[in-house]
Amino acid sequence: MNWRSHVLIGIIFAIIAVLILGTRDTITIILFGAIGGLAALVPDLDHDTSKGRQLLDMGFIGFSFLSAYGSKCGSVVCLPNLEQVSGIATIFFALVGVYFVFFKFFKPNHRGITHTILATIVFGVLMYFFAGLGIAVAGIAGYFSHMVADQHIKLI
Ligand SMILES: [Zn+2]
Repeated sequence: MNWRSHVLIGIIFAIIAVLILGTRDTITIILFGAIGGLAALVPDLDHDTSKGRQLLDMGFIGFSFLSAYGSKCGSVVCLPNLEQVSGIATIFFALVGVYFVFFKFFKPNHRGITHTILATIVFGVLMYFFAGLGIAVAGIAGYFSHMVADQHIKLI
């Protein structure tokens, strides 16, 4: 199944989930639908050419740069001097290196652990702690929809 179908099914699952919870605010329903659509891409992070991985790769590169820049310049925008530039480069390449080493050597098999009920629960718990119950429910619905669409649901 291609990523567009996964996103669409994730959106539908998340909207159904928040409607069941009693949400009637249009903006909230749209937001939760978008979260469900993104969450539906997460299980295929175990696949190098998946849309989720492409987004995460680019997102992580941006995140690494902003983290490296922020660690040398603080929260303000600064024009770094030469010493700061070398510090930013060091942190940036260290973060990107760890990320790519992880996916090179520790990536789970395709449709392995990421396509399980256990992974859905872990994902939901993480979402709950970082973003709260509503977003976690939308995320779980989107994540779960991926396995339903793949017709590949395992417990662990
Ligand atoms: Zn999949």
